[in-house]
Amino acid sequence: MTHLLLGAHMSIAGGVSQALDRAASVGSNAVQVFTKNNRQWQGPPIDEEDAARWSQEKPAQHICASVSHASYLINLASPKDDLWEKSRRAHIDELRRAHAYAIPHVVLHPGAHTGSGSEAGIRRVAEALNRIHAEAPECDDTLTLLELMAGQGTTLGRSFAELRAIIEQVDDRSRVAICADTCHAFAAGYDLRSQDGYDAMLEELGQELGLDALKVWHFNDSKGALGSHVDRHTHIGEGEIGEDGFGRILNDARWQGIPMLLETPKEDDLAEDVKNLRRLCALVDDADRIPPGLRDDA
Ligand SMILES: [Zn+2]
Ligand SMILES: [Zn+2]
Repeated sequence: MTHLLLGAHMSIAGGVSQALDRAASVGSNAVQVFTKNNRQWQGPPIDEEDAARWSQEKPAQHICASVSHASYLINLASPKDDLWEKSRRAHIDELRRAHAYAIPHVVLHPGAHTGSGSEAGIRRVAEALNRIHAEAPECDDTLTLLELMAGQGTTLGRSFAELRAIIEQVDDRSRVAICADTCHAFAAGYDLRSQDGYDAMLEELGQELGLDALKVWHFNDSKGALGSHVDRHTHIGEGEIGEDGFGRILNDARWQGIPMLLETPKEDDLAEDVKNLRRLCALVDDADRIPPGLRDDA
């Protein structure tokens, strides 16, 4: 068995490629980034020099997997035409940025229907993706990963069935897949605390989309209770899910090659990332699967 792909979301302060240095500094071998400021619609032009540094440093720093997360402003489910258009253009930009860095997966929140109803929202997301795919054919190797959400308010993507409903209406399904966030899943009602709950979650995923639709795990413990629809991330083992829930996923051979990425609170010194990564590694049964940089002797 090959190594687990473990890492965290890292800041791009100083350039997107700086995230690789941060990922390597905590001993991880996977990373998630925003490819531009995630709270702004417009980013600067793609920095070709930094993209070149990325492709050089990624293997040099032993980072085996990279994922980008799209801006939180994007809402492809919006019933408002102006916001929908703006969101569509912004997501095309996200795909082009990721493509320039050879990042294969862009995680996207499916969006919120804001009152138009789930069915209308789902149609809107699928139509937006169809147009995006037509308008950016050059990005066909950069997949959009619809993220499983906690289901707060009118947010779409609160179950695998709802994600399937979106994907079903996408013409080119080779360009979409999903990301499962443990905190969101738990808040949405998937009980990751128990073997039965985990098995039931995977059975549903298998039936709705197939296990191979899941390309990325976000590893966050949950401050919110099971089924609370409250999206509050906390440190591994310090929330409602608990360490066993993560151990079960880490030791499940079906996730071989699937990046597992923290999005837990932290300061600039990344001490919390180190702590959470160590906690995850302590849960791994087969020590040979621990990324080299995270071993006790590293
Ligand atoms: Zn997210
Ligand atoms: Zn997430």
